[in-house]
Amino acid sequence: MQIHDIDERLASLGAKTVHRQRVLRAWLRAQALDHGPRPAEHDLPLALRNALPALDETLQGLARLRSVHPSADGSERLLVELADGQTVESVLLPREGLCVSSQVGCAVGCVFCMTGRDGLLRQLGSAEILAQVVLARRRRTVRKVVFMGMGEPAHNLDNVLDAIEMLGTLGDIGHKNLVFSTVGDPRVFERLPRGPVKPALALSLHTTRADLRAELLPRAPRMTPEEIVAEGEHYARSTGYPIQYQWTLIEGVNDSAEEMDGIVRLLKGKYALMNMIPYNTVPELGFKRPDWERARELARSLHARGVLTKLRNSAGQDIDGGCGQLRAREAATHKI
Ligand code: SF4
Repeated sequence: MQIHDIDERLASLGAKTVHRQRVLRAWLRAQALDHGPRPAEHDLPLALRNALPALDETLQGLARLRSVHPSADGSERLLVELADGQTVESVLLPREGLCVSSQVGCAVGCVFCMTGRDGLLRQLGSAEILAQVVLARRRRTVRKVVFMGMGEPAHNLDNVLDAIEMLGTLGDIGHKNLVFSTVGDPRVFERLPRGPVKPALALSLHTTRADLRAELLPRAPRMTPEEIVAEGEHYARSTGYPIQYQWTLIEGVNDSAEEMDGIVRLLKGKYALMNMIPYNTVPELGFKRPDWERARELARSLHARGVLTKLRNSAGQDIDGGCGQLRAREAATHKI
């Protein structure tokens, strides 16, 4: 379901723009649907008021909580069931953040990722993306939404951008607290600067070698690391927010001295932050997590060489590891 389907349903019940915005604002903030200002011009038409319980039911059915997996770091991994029984993962992050999914499955097929293993199963509608935020807001405050869950947002661009626009307006989330995460796609660099809400941008680089990137991210658009960084720099300078480069650090794959030299060559002097995230070992996939001390040393040395670098653990890594594992486990159990 798309957000404009809900908007049309409201309009068919006699809602004017002010009423539609009131209902959608209340929904996105996880309030009762008739919550809002009381002056006469905002009063909801009778037909709309009578239809609110049924609408509420529909909206709640877009994303239901299948299970909750709290972590020692304060994050909570949520397995979310969609109306057709498919599942996606959202993660409530420490410091009022939320990571949402944009697709069921993913077509990029990164060789180290569980989500990519089965390819793309289906797109999420914009309302389903937003429903993950509403569901999370019923549990705790959410002031930052990152599109880093299951799926490649660039492959569901219209729906993700619609969701971003809603969150950045009626959803009351600061634009730089909306983070669009992508492997790098020319359509993203073309569309993001034109939107009414400009999110921050995270670019998954993972290697500075074009040949290795083609192996690790087999169906990512064929942009070289140099092209990705050049486009990223342009967007960062035009929005005023630094690019967050993501680097899943995998032992023996992208942790060499040559790769570190490559990072310095590409990112030194750029308006950028390098997030280095040691890989969460997934038994089925055969890649290894590097030793934490070694990862810390690599991050420290990049920092000393002029690349702003942070070493991070992916949230909730003590519970079912990386993105896609909860769903994969459920799928194995329930045959979804
Ligand atoms: Fe898709 Fe991201 Fe997994 Fe790659 S890492 S397959 S882009 S979900």
